[in-house]
Amino acid sequence: MSDDPTTAYPTPPQPEQEQPVPGLANQMDPKPDHGEDSYTGSGQLTGKVAVVTGADSGIGRAAAIAFAREGADVVLSYLPAEQSDADEVVALVEAAGRRAVTVPGDLSTREGNVELVERAVAELGRIDVLTIVAGHQQAVEDLADLSDEQFDETYRTNVYGLFWLVKAALPHLQPGASVITTSSVQAYQPSPTLVDYAGTKAAINAISKALAQQLAPKGVRVNVVAPGPFWTPLQVSGGQPTEALPDFGAETPLGRAGQPAELASTYVYLASDRSSYTTGATVSVTGGMPTP
Ligand code: NAD
Ligand code: MG
Repeated sequence: MSDDPTTAYPTPPQPEQEQPVPGLANQMDPKPDHGEDSYTGSGQLTGKVAVVTGADSGIGRAAAIAFAREGADVVLSYLPAEQSDADEVVALVEAAGRRAVTVPGDLSTREGNVELVERAVAELGRIDVLTIVAGHQQAVEDLADLSDEQFDETYRTNVYGLFWLVKAALPHLQPGASVITTSSVQAYQPSPTLVDYAGTKAAINAISKALAQQLAPKGVRVNVVAPGPFWTPLQVSGGQPTEALPDFGAETPLGRAGQPAELASTYVYLASDRSSYTTGATVSVTGGMPTP
């Protein structure tokens, strides 16, 4: 791997491709790099219990692999349709010598979120790191074609799901716990095709900063990661118009899409006690796209 960030990973053009929602990492070309062969731990999360949503693929998978290699047991949340991707992550977590608890389910419902917390606590006893990465994104060119159903699903998954999950987890979060949410550069530079999605990502920023202040006296930190364009199943299953995929990432100053592996250390940092004075922050990892 090159040290030069402009060439360290694949550069555009990417091959055109399309998958049905939610998309599988194991069907992508090129396959995303989630740190499978590169992430090395150094005991930063030894003995912690981490819940990761969207853990089967993309950014969530990179976080789950890194957390396990840093010494955490990991509860993996994903959709039932993603079992084949999730199986790969289970094997990687177990190869790191940690426990993997799988909880396939739908986080766009209150019940799905409550069940995730109940299973995590029943199996592993507590939650030290609550990592909310799951998200829904579908590009729509014309507002007239943006259905009520899609608008609803995007908000239920990205915003209501966050609310339901943190609320259910709260009684189990002890002082020292860390909550990490996932916003986007879309919160600051919304694409014309992502009206619903961009709004949810701005909401995640604001909700997280309000919660950070509310939970600080309890010793619970809340921080946000705001990625730029990353090469993941979300983007090849309707997150971008198909014809935009070859150039995906070319608009960034670094000239390429990020790989999930390039976010792993950001999630680890916010999860670990090393960031003990960091709360209410948004860490942008955008390939140089400016953010506030
Ligand atoms: P991804 O497709 O690998 O991950 C998204 C995950 O969300 C899926 O794997 C799925 O498990 C989960 N999910 C979706 N709907 C769900 C539901 N109803 N119930 C349970 N789980 C559900 O793609 P990714 O790009 O790694 O996305 C992870 C997060 O990163 C999302 O919140 C996304 O908005 C955010 N993000 C991605 C990019 C990017 O360019 N890829 C940029 C900014 C932010
Ligand atoms: Mg997935």
